[in-house]
Amino acid sequence: MSTIAEGTDNGTDTTPEEVDVVVVGAGFSGLYALHRLRRSGLSVICFEAGDGVGGTWYWNRYPGARVDIESVQYSYSFDDQLQQDWHWPELFSPQEDLEKYINHVADRFELRPMIRFGARVNRMQFDEGIRMWHVSTESGHRVTAKYVFAATGPLDATNIPQFPGLENFQGTLVHTSQWPREGVDYAGRRVGVIGTGSTGVQVVPEMAKDAGHLHVFQRTPVYTVPAHNQPLDSSYERDWKEHYAERRAMMRRHPNALVLPMQGHGSIFDYTPEQRLKILEEAWQARSGLLFFFLFNDVMRDIEANDVVAEWFRGKIRQIVGDQEVAEMLCPKTYPLGTKRLSIDSGYYETFNRENVTLVDVGSNPIVEITPAGLRTTAEEYDLDVLVMATGFDAMTGSLTRMNVTGLGGVDLADKWADKPWNYLGLMVSGFPNLFMVHGPGGPGVVAQMVTQCEYQIDWFTDLIDHMESHALATVDTTHDIEAEWCDELAEVANQTLFPRADSWYAGANIDGKARSFMIWVGGFDVFADRCDEVAANDYRGFVLKP
Ligand SMILES: Cc1cc2nc3c(=O)[nH]c(=O)nc-3n(C[C@H](O)[C@H](O)[C@H](O)COP(=O)(O)OP(=O)(O)OC[C@H]3O[C@@H](n4cnc5c(N)ncnc54)[C@H](O)[C@@H]3O)c2cc1C
Repeated sequence: MSTIAEGTDNGTDTTPEEVDVVVVGAGFSGLYALHRLRRSGLSVICFEAGDGVGGTWYWNRYPGARVDIESVQYSYSFDDQLQQDWHWPELFSPQEDLEKYINHVADRFELRPMIRFGARVNRMQFDEGIRMWHVSTESGHRVTAKYVFAATGPLDATNIPQFPGLENFQGTLVHTSQWPREGVDYAGRRVGVIGTGSTGVQVVPEMAKDAGHLHVFQRTPVYTVPAHNQPLDSSYERDWKEHYAERRAMMRRHPNALVLPMQGHGSIFDYTPEQRLKILEEAWQARSGLLFFFLFNDVMRDIEANDVVAEWFRGKIRQIVGDQEVAEMLCPKTYPLGTKRLSIDSGYYETFNRENVTLVDVGSNPIVEITPAGLRTTAEEYDLDVLVMATGFDAMTGSLTRMNVTGLGGVDLADKWADKPWNYLGLMVSGFPNLFMVHGPGGPGVVAQMVTQCEYQIDWFTDLIDHMESHALATVDTTHDIEAEWCDELAEVANQTLFPRADSWYAGANIDGKARSFMIWVGGFDVFADRCDEVAANDYRGFVLKP
């Protein structure tokens, strides 16, 4: 075993030419991979496009950016002393606190020297002669590695819809995931926000407080429930710290890798309309917003059950929003509740009662072009000083396909995935040996809490590496038959739910020209992890290991 490859600058001088492992990305996943790999004694280098650690929480600095899982849960479990020492000021942490935490982790575990910042990987090529990966960055690094961890993030590849005239806009144009560290001056100005997904839901109430006027351009209305965020209660924190071990074990056994106190009411049809109302109302008022979506076990499977909750939900919107025309525009009616990314908010619907906020329906009257002074829809023209794109990501696959990855026979990953993102267990793609995807398409990814998931996946990969190193194995791959079986199983499981009924980014629907294929394992993180354990216990069944 060789030593850790360390260096502190962005240049090539301290970067070795050959390492055991390249980790791409220094978010939650990349940092944990560095920590775990260091324990294995392998030489490791990490390339990170940004100038700091944190991934999602480094890039998404927009006003209102906040986690939607309680921070006592959305945090690392690998070091109990870290869990005990760390204090989260709020129940749902804002971006600043998450960035502080992840920087603390990088320093505490001395991970920073292994990372080259400002180093975007722009080429990865598998060399069949030496059975290693050649990895290059935009800043000139050239490294050869036996293994690569693609910890590049499921929600990292920014999506900016190419509206005609975009380049002509004279005001400030910003995507929420590229929000400048120094902020954007929008106080008193005419602001437009395009997009009302999870990010729009967070950014709109915050910007409305200071904007002169805020136009919200909505194509599809969103279901979002109140977060009831608050300072972290000290007795609640103490209770978590005393019970971390058992709670983390519960997360491993939960379909969404969560501890949710109120779930499990069974079928909605087991209750009278009055009882349902009571349960729903209690959940709406409760502290953990997302549990609302897990109240009844048939809501994600039975459209009639879903309709009951969705109609109740629309009633809530009509109650909160004063202008009933606006309320109707905000009511989701074209897809079942929960089949697009769940959102929790701090005063989203209430924001539309403000005099300085206007909702614009660009579903009925699409945006035609961005003009130098603002934007034009088929119905009207809007003058804007600041235009915010809350338009999300080329999710799950984008950060991988944008990296120019070529595997066996010179096959480009983007070509391989032209019709669907073939994969086995979301972990590997056939023809791309020793390339490990964290939160890859085909895994539970964005429908379960992702810190617990990344720890699980990285432990699984590092155990596999330990197995390979101790058995003098050179490569691990899978086959197209195996990945086709997995993709069929994934689709079958998804088809038993209502998820495929939405045109969502879970299926690539937000990106023009992207293949429509449901990319997420919705059979539960618990089932997924059991399957991965079973595969490992059976000599990595479905994987092909070669000396
Ligand atoms: C606004 C927002 C809110 C979210 N809230 C939640 C939540 O409440 N709960 C939850 O479970 N999940 C949430 N997520 C999902 C979130 O992405 C994950 O929880 C988690 O942060 C993923 O960590 P990661 O390290 O795998 O990826 P990321 O944090 O995305 O990190 C990937 C890193 O890879 C780097 N990278 C990518 N490509 C390259 C390249 N070619 N070369 C070099 N570096 C590269 C990026 O710069 C980035 O730093 C949220 C996502 C967003 C965008």
